[in-house]
Amino acid sequence: MKGTVHYEVCGDIALLSIDNPPVNPLSSGVRQGLFDGVDQALADDAVTGIVITGLHRAFIAGADISEFGAAASEGASLHEVLRIMDKSVKPIIAAINGTAFGGGLEVALCCNYRIAAPTAPVGLPEVKLGLLPGAGGTQRLPRLIGAKAAAGIMLTGDPVAAPPALQMGIIDRIAEGDLIEEAIDYAREIVVSANPLRRIRDMDEKIRADRGDSAILAEVGAQIEKNQRGRFAPVQILKCIETAVNTDDFDAGLDFERERFSECLADPQREALIHIFFAERAANKIPGLTKDLPLIEINKGSIVGAGTMGGGIAMCFANAGIPVKVHDNDADNLARGIKVIESNYARTVSRGRLSQAAMDERMALIIPTVNFDDLGDGDVVIEAVYENLDLKKEIFKRLDSIMKPGSLLATNTSGLDVDAIAAVTSRPADVCGMHFFSPANVMRLLEVIKGEKSTPVTLASAMALGKRLGKVSVVAGNCPGFIGNRMIGGYGRQANLMILEGAMPSRIDEVIYNFGLAMGPFAMADMVGLDLGWRARKMVGGSNDITTRVTDGLCDLGRYGQKNGKGFYRYEPGDRTPLPDPEADEVIRKVAEELGRPQKSFSDDEILKRCIYPLVNIGAMLLDEGHALRAGDIDTVYVNGYGFPAHVGGPMWYADTRGLDNVLADIERFYEESGDDVWKPSNLLRKLVREGRNFASLDAG
Ligand code: NAD
Repeated sequence: MKGTVHYEVCGDIALLSIDNPPVNPLSSGVRQGLFDGVDQALADDAVTGIVITGLHRAFIAGADISEFGAAASEGASLHEVLRIMDKSVKPIIAAINGTAFGGGLEVALCCNYRIAAPTAPVGLPEVKLGLLPGAGGTQRLPRLIGAKAAAGIMLTGDPVAAPPALQMGIIDRIAEGDLIEEAIDYAREIVVSANPLRRIRDMDEKIRADRGDSAILAEVGAQIEKNQRGRFAPVQILKCIETAVNTDDFDAGLDFERERFSECLADPQREALIHIFFAERAANKIPGLTKDLPLIEINKGSIVGAGTMGGGIAMCFANAGIPVKVHDNDADNLARGIKVIESNYARTVSRGRLSQAAMDERMALIIPTVNFDDLGDGDVVIEAVYENLDLKKEIFKRLDSIMKPGSLLATNTSGLDVDAIAAVTSRPADVCGMHFFSPANVMRLLEVIKGEKSTPVTLASAMALGKRLGKVSVVAGNCPGFIGNRMIGGYGRQANLMILEGAMPSRIDEVIYNFGLAMGPFAMADMVGLDLGWRARKMVGGSNDITTRVTDGLCDLGRYGQKNGKGFYRYEPGDRTPLPDPEADEVIRKVAEELGRPQKSFSDDEILKRCIYPLVNIGAMLLDEGHALRAGDIDTVYVNGYGFPAHVGGPMWYADTRGLDNVLADIERFYEESGDDVWKPSNLLRKLVREGRNFASLDAG
């Protein structure tokens, strides 16, 4: 059995120390050890109280994920452990030395009292993996801290640091000195007081107060609809909280929780979310990058361009405590860029999520300069000027002449040739792409583009910097659009073709929204602005691509999108809700008529396939070419950079769940009907179907 629990008696108190390095997950040996330890302490008349703590850096970091889904595992079940703890006539104190997450916090909640080290975080992160706290957490936490606060913790899954946990009442004390000594003293205090033992299962003050307040649960439901639309587990968590609030029978609540937990366990969303959880971690493992590489030490950053991206990237540096110089050759743009950063921070301060002092510290780390040469002492420079290859080459020539030797040279291009940019320097080995997503200070994704000559040190240093900036980094090969933008091209193209074939933008947007993205392609286009592409096309004398005809027609009528209240939709002043507009629909009808496109009716599923399957086919091409290392990397890109719903696991995982043979059959049919290159079935997809395999099997090796 994996893991163990050491038993020792300190005077009259039994001390149970969990030992399952590094983070003490609740594996079979730990569960059995806890059961035996409590049993032994209860049987020993010389023992009057029990303290449970963890060795190493965690109390208990949660369930052992590797045991999930396994048939009956060895050792006592967690429920058996909690039952014996619940029945204890001797006080049990949790001495929370470090992380107490998931089942770890549930064990602590089953103790009579909790004392924590000042640095120990607690939390119930199950929702992130499509689950709910299934060992009494949904029933105990509302009884302890009230429904609203408990919902906040269980629905976000975010950790709570010890001081706020004390304030909320999740823990009773924070240790001022030696945690174990204080926990043992605490146990003795309780024994001496001879008061009845406090058990959360018997507490009803908070839930009785909540029972009369239906607004609390309605508010939680509305939060789920807003932030976790389409997710199964949050709804089950809400049902469990409702049960806790509305029933006095604690054991019935536990039974209800167990049933909801089993449903979550069986739901496909759980597997998809676990896939994403592991895919994000696997993305860090790059063949050829060993741990002992001499990484570039980054103490100072430099950024060229203070626009949307340069400003957001500067905030990432400041948030990570790294001083950063920001240069723009246009003094007005530089001043505007810094103002935008300032107002972004000010908004966070006004929402109470950042102190004014912290904002001031961050602003002080961002040093604007109109002098290009000032950038030279940066350990890394990130170029974020306009998306123009000649301009970027020019900038890199100049960077080559000023940057100190050994610094990392990165471009934030959205899809231009990184090798062409690197080639103008005398040090292409030090160049790579670092493609942030907008808004860069918010979006978690970073694509690190491996140029032909980028060395392992360059790549590993860019990945390590991404990690420091709090990003999920994925390595992509140097092809037009890299991973994310190359794939999105096919999605947008099909959406624009479908409106010429009889599907209205609102219908397509609705299907995509219902699938789980924040918005569909046309609402998104209106938000970004239709005029950007239109102006670019005009500059090169127009385009023959029929998929841009409607957008151009809309712009010709002055319909630029949200920015001026009309695009594919119309907008009321100050409101971003897209509303239907006959003028826009008429543009679509006319273009379709001019092009003589046959009109047809679409099912929702057909619309969905036309939008999502190009992602799958192009994703397979990227894998085949080696421009993406793993199917899981592609899913990580889409979930973290494009708002693809994590609970369907990303486009490649989604394709697996629909069956690759079915996906290929549809792609072949679309290819036959349209001859469109996007539908030319990828060789890899064909091969996998021939061999009866799926994308996940590629990652499994
Ligand atoms: P932007 O227009 O907001 O900002 C570009 C800035 O570069 C401007 O302030 C401009 O004055 C400055 N600049 C231009 N020439 C310069 C020069 N010679 N020296 C110094 N500064 C100069 O553009 P953006 O949206 O921030 O995009 C920047 C880059 O990031 C582009 O390559 C773009 O493709 C890429 N990108 C953009 C997004 C996005 O959503 N906006 C997302 C990812 C990547």
